[in-house]
Amino acid sequence: MSTEELNTPGMQVPPELQNQVSITTLNRIYNWSRRNSLWPMMFGLACCAIEMICAAAARYDFARFGFEVMRPSPRQADVMIVSGTVTKKMIPQIVRLYNQMPEPKYVIAMGACASGGGPFKEGYNVVSGVDKFIPVDVYIPGCPPTPQALLNGMITLQKKVDNESLKEVRWYKKGASEPIPVPVLGPDLMDPRKFGLIKEESQKMLEQQQMPGTGPAAEEAPAV
Ligand code: SF4
Repeated sequence: MSTEELNTPGMQVPPELQNQVSITTLNRIYNWSRRNSLWPMMFGLACCAIEMICAAAARYDFARFGFEVMRPSPRQADVMIVSGTVTKKMIPQIVRLYNQMPEPKYVIAMGACASGGGPFKEGYNVVSGVDKFIPVDVYIPGCPPTPQALLNGMITLQKKVDNESLKEVRWYKKGASEPIPVPVLGPDLMDPRKFGLIKEESQKMLEQQQMPGTGPAAEEAPAV
């Protein structure tokens, strides 16, 4: 978006003042400044990450669009590009990193794996979409998506930022900064908010097994 586009449509700036003066709204300048400096976090999970690296290198050079520097710290990043297969072992780390990013923050699910599990959807160790745990703003299809597809996804994110309103954005709403509970990997992924329920159900099962005439031993007894 050039400085021309920063002006509110219909407001004429005299030619001698163009590129020096802009007449605009608070929303427009707020979105304009953020959409041109969306800094991605530097991390990758699997093969899609190679395409992401290509998009950052000289040929595709996503710095042209303001995705200037990839930050190695979540505290300095605006966008999390989830590029690759999300395993149950990795999701606690991904949620923790997401929590450590300051608002405003966005998430791009790059590729079939991050969007819905991809070719490993039925795998015992794979999460069928990162959106089961963190909110996703843009999904990029493909296995793997090309660097051009990633550029298109990031430009789509810019368009989304363009349309945000200061009144509506989630980070100014009450309770918006609450961190997402980090899932715990036990025999399977467990949501810490459901620990009480899991404990209750396990206790019930244990009691059932200990009652005489019930439980697996009783079921296996041959009928007389
Ligand atoms: S979507 Fe395809 S290329 Fe991307 S991480 Fe999954 S298997 Fe690899």
